[in-house]
Amino acid sequence: MPEQNFDLHCHSNVSDGMLPPAELVARAAAQGVTVLSLTDHDDVAGLEAARAAALEHGIQLVNGVEISVTWGSHTLHIVGLNIDPAHPVLSTGLEGIRHGRGERAAKMAAQLDKAGIKDSLQGAYQHAGNKNLIGRMHFARYLVAQGIVKDVRTVFKKYLVKGKPGYVSHQWASLAEAVGWIVASGGQAVIAHPGRYQMGSGKMHELLEEFKNLGGVGIEVVTGSHTPEQYPQYANLAQKFGLLSSRGSDFHAPGEGYRDIGRLPALPELCTPIWHDWAAC
Ligand code: AMP
Ligand code: MN
Ligand code: MN
Ligand code: MN
Repeated sequence: MPEQNFDLHCHSNVSDGMLPPAELVARAAAQGVTVLSLTDHDDVAGLEAARAAALEHGIQLVNGVEISVTWGSHTLHIVGLNIDPAHPVLSTGLEGIRHGRGERAAKMAAQLDKAGIKDSLQGAYQHAGNKNLIGRMHFARYLVAQGIVKDVRTVFKKYLVKGKPGYVSHQWASLAEAVGWIVASGGQAVIAHPGRYQMGSGKMHELLEEFKNLGGVGIEVVTGSHTPEQYPQYANLAQKFGLLSSRGSDFHAPGEGYRDIGRLPALPELCTPIWHDWAAC
């Protein structure tokens, strides 16, 4: 069997990616991905179109989602893999956390207005393929399109993050809810891009402990959000806590992030891949 290429984290325009699900899958296939998970933020509406496209391109699609979580003062993302998108516990939960996004966006725009950036609410909505999923990336694209900031990476240094204009704190799902919804729908819960959370090692250990106790099973080790120096660090943590390792680009749009879809190094040797016992892989 040819070598498999797993990319288990990416976004379509159902959340804050730019490509429609079918185009995203076509790009993944063209880049050599053989097993893809579409993991839109807080929504599973792209999975059906993605599945049809995967069939057409001869690659495997794993049903996924990336759930926004508030854990103390931290915002975390928990990826669910092999979920059942139609499961009522999961779909009701996701619907609940989608609700607050419109109100939050209005508050973000009011702050940006005070900072001298006009019309950002309307501008952000123009970049949102799914109006219910309005989020920071859509504001970021507006700021870039207006020539206010040179690219989206720079936006998240000057705006939309804690302490900068356009940041509005928000109550997402609890960690217990997110893991619970994923597990209830038959999926595997995975901590997304742990290297992004700016927590000390004591806090990270506390998180992994709690996550495991709640039924979480995996952690992203190789992701577009980690530097190569972070791969072995999180591989060691995975081993220490008995977590399976995942790999995903977190691709959003061509030319936008650090890694294109499917273009990632292999997991470090010591990792047990999250897919080690998946039937068809
Ligand atoms: P939201 O769900 O509205 O809070 O938006 C979160 C999204 O903003 C993430 O999924 C990323 O797409 C983007 N984002 C947040 N922080 C950064 C960052 N530091 N660099 C690049 N993109 C980021
Ligand atoms: Mn995103
Ligand atoms: Mn994320
Ligand atoms: Mn993501």
